[in-house]
Amino acid sequence: MTLVQTTTTTHEQHLLISVPQVEPRTTIPLQNLRIPGPTPVPSAVLAELARPLINHRGPEFAAILLRVTTRLQYIFQTTSPVLTFPASGTGGQECALVNLFSPGEHVVAITNGHFGNRFAQIAERFGLQVSRIAFPWGEAADPGIVEARLRELAPYRGVLLTHNETSTGVTNAIQTLTALIRQQNPDALIVVDAVSSLGCIPFEMDAWEIDVVFTASQKGLMCPPGLMMLAASPRAWEANTQARLPRYYFDWARARRSLDRGQHPVTPPISLFYALDLALDMLLTEGLEAIFARHQHMGDYIRRHVRALGLQLLADPAHASNTVTAVRVPEGIDARVLLHTLRERDQVVLAGGQEHLSGKILRIAHMGCCEVRDLFTALNCLQVRLQELSFPRNKQQEGEAFQW
Ligand code: PLP
Repeated sequence: MTLVQTTTTTHEQHLLISVPQVEPRTTIPLQNLRIPGPTPVPSAVLAELARPLINHRGPEFAAILLRVTTRLQYIFQTTSPVLTFPASGTGGQECALVNLFSPGEHVVAITNGHFGNRFAQIAERFGLQVSRIAFPWGEAADPGIVEARLRELAPYRGVLLTHNETSTGVTNAIQTLTALIRQQNPDALIVVDAVSSLGCIPFEMDAWEIDVVFTASQKGLMCPPGLMMLAASPRAWEANTQARLPRYYFDWARARRSLDRGQHPVTPPISLFYALDLALDMLLTEGLEAIFARHQHMGDYIRRHVRALGLQLLADPAHASNTVTAVRVPEGIDARVLLHTLRERDQVVLAGGQEHLSGKILRIAHMGCCEVRDLFTALNCLQVRLQELSFPRNKQQEGEAFQW
């Protein structure tokens, strides 16, 4: 490793802290990035990041903010304003909680993986009383069980749900779940984490009577990480006026007042707004129905091919996600070696499992800017590397998959 020294000027020589020795900058490789976020971004969207900066309190930014907000309302399928914060998905979880609830209030968290757990943990950190309805990782939330448990747990103020559990590749039946929650408790605040589903899998905030939905820029919206978007129903805005959890950066009321003036309460990442603006153009040009169909097609394709390679899916296909697929690592195969080889030799970057699924699954993302051909390449490389690690081939099954 060669260390490079930044040039010093004479007047810097008296400084107590010396000029740092750092590794030289290297070229970022072009990879087949198949992790569930950040996801690949179209080059035209990346090019938007190079545009000159503008005054975030000026008319040009106001026009972008209005365009972005209006089209996000369409993607969320809501007439409520969509607030955009400089944050990631975890920021969305925190933002929803601090704006809706007061210390000690009872909320129910329906969990079936790492991100559902994180949502529940944040609620606990903020002093809410959290009851979990937990399902095994790899399974979907069972509406019958949820209905019975909610009855036992009542009264509760809110319910926290994860639409697409990214850690296991499972999509929960949000429409069914929200309908039964609403039937049981018409005033419940239904909060949905749609970080790895929105813009890829059908979602209708208003029609499904959801109170708060949030997502992040780096998953299905074909944009770099850094923006979190959240919409709140009239019921949620009413709750916001009573909610006593402390908040400042994520304060909805502050954000909305600024939005009404075409601004953001803090200095926003302007370049990311340029990128999102174009990404939304592209998404709307393709059309939501076509996007959903593309993701359905990619989901079907990958599930079929994974099985044809003799591998097992973690999720039951009935609940399997159309944005990320979790594959069981076969007995005797070291997941770390497999992922490392794929990255170093093939520039195919897959994700491993989280928590107790570490080393047991690998995850292949197919959300946002992704086509079947990207998956075809990744799966072929996976097949070759598995064979090198002595995983047996099933030629007949493989043949069937490729005929499809
Ligand atoms: N919720 C879900 C469903 C996610 O998939 C993720 C991240 O992958 C998060 C929350 C947290 O998002 P972030 O890592 O952007 O903070």
